[in-house]
Amino acid sequence: MTPDDVGASENLRGGFRDECGVFGIYGHDDAARLTYLGLYQLQHRGQESCGIVATDGNVLRQERAMGLVSEVFDEERLNRLPGVSAIGHTRYSTAGEVSVREAQPFLVGAGPHGQVAVCHNGNLPFATEDRKRLQSHGAIFTSTSDTEVVLHGIAQSGAATVLEAIPEVLRETEGAFSMLFLTPEALVAVRDPRGFRPLALGRLDGAWVVASETCAFDLIGAAYVRDVEPGEMVVIDEGGLRSTFPLPERPRSFCVFEHVYFSRPDSMVYGRSVNESRHKMGKRLAVEQPADADLVVPVPDSGVAAAIGYAAESGISFRFGLVRNHYVGRTFIEPRQSIRSFGVRLKLNPVRDLIRGRSVVLIDDSIVRGTTSKKIVRLVREAGARAVHVRISCPPTVSPCYYGVDTPNKEELIAAQLSVEEVCRFIEADSLGYLSMEGMLQACGLPADTSCVACWTGRYPTRISPRAETQYAREHEPVPSD
Ligand code: AMP
Repeated sequence: MTPDDVGASENLRGGFRDECGVFGIYGHDDAARLTYLGLYQLQHRGQESCGIVATDGNVLRQERAMGLVSEVFDEERLNRLPGVSAIGHTRYSTAGEVSVREAQPFLVGAGPHGQVAVCHNGNLPFATEDRKRLQSHGAIFTSTSDTEVVLHGIAQSGAATVLEAIPEVLRETEGAFSMLFLTPEALVAVRDPRGFRPLALGRLDGAWVVASETCAFDLIGAAYVRDVEPGEMVVIDEGGLRSTFPLPERPRSFCVFEHVYFSRPDSMVYGRSVNESRHKMGKRLAVEQPADADLVVPVPDSGVAAAIGYAAESGISFRFGLVRNHYVGRTFIEPRQSIRSFGVRLKLNPVRDLIRGRSVVLIDDSIVRGTTSKKIVRLVREAGARAVHVRISCPPTVSPCYYGVDTPNKEELIAAQLSVEEVCRFIEADSLGYLSMEGMLQACGLPADTSCVACWTGRYPTRISPRAETQYAREHEPVPSD
């Protein structure tokens, strides 16, 4: 499935963790409208709320609400955001706090530094500790978000200007942050020293743009220039673009899951094509985990690029044996008892003629809880498949992510509990094979020593606060599944 797939992500959500998209622009008369378009392209990174803060050089104005970008913003709302610079955000919200108070960008007006807005993709594992410290010095929080901690840090900093306060606070901040700040005078983009989450820099006419993924540039006709580097702070203002590296140097930890699942295949992430990575993962998967099958069928959409690679390498024909309904909204109301639960059928329907009597190799990017995979295997079998072989284009997912991708806690990660054979039995497949770590990294062109692979190994590149672990476990308590 894809990040915007309702059922799968509903299953997997349920914590204070964010999976988000950020977009920013400096120096364009249509700043808010272009931000709106950029966010439209980043919708897959978060669908619960969104927002834009824009400035005309004097005042920052904010519009944010629950809902999709297309639902939240209309002409009237965009007209309330005049100006030449803007930042915007799309977000998955928390389970406990599904509220507009959590929607970003955050904007503060008071304080020694005047107005500042911030939006963030990533996660700060020590936010709870930092929040307590700031509260003891008088900070009053309006959300449960880790991002607000940074804003209060800036407000309480003794630095003379916001531009000095930002690195002062972030120097002490551990975790994953691709962050954008907006003041009446400047747009600031900062990426944590490990570079967990992507952040790309582009050019549109005379204006500068920044975005989580380059697919946001394509729609507005901006050119991808380069990535904001790990540890880099880019300041864009009247004087142009200035780059500094004010954060302590750390080994790089690029999130590989961005290439496996999270980013769009038409994006360049860490300077590499996501589609190319997925295609190569599929090819390598065919070598490592061959299957005796008549058809290669992707689980749409997340399995498509890898399935094409698998088919190319194995010589088995690629067919769309599962068709996805793209119009399943979050507001869909299941009929009452009298009609059976639609489950995964609502989203995926097998092409019976194609599948009947055939041995099928089903390709997906990952198995998390295993519940969706089981339903899909059943669906294909009920459509008459002779055999269903499942192949996954990454290693078994065994540990939660503390750096901004929502995953359930360890107890619910099926591969953390069961062996590959047992998972195969659970999902009722005839065989199951995963791509190796080496194969995955090679396909993505990401060396092991500059990658974060914690969700597959449990080895985290930073310290993890015990509080964050406990809170994570509490907020990701098992959800009943049908
Ligand atoms: P399941 O079989 O229930 O573990 O679901 C597997 C599906 O969830 C796959 O199609 C994945 O593409 C999708 N998936 C993987 N990671 C995530 C995530 N963090 N959020 C939402 N869906 C995900």
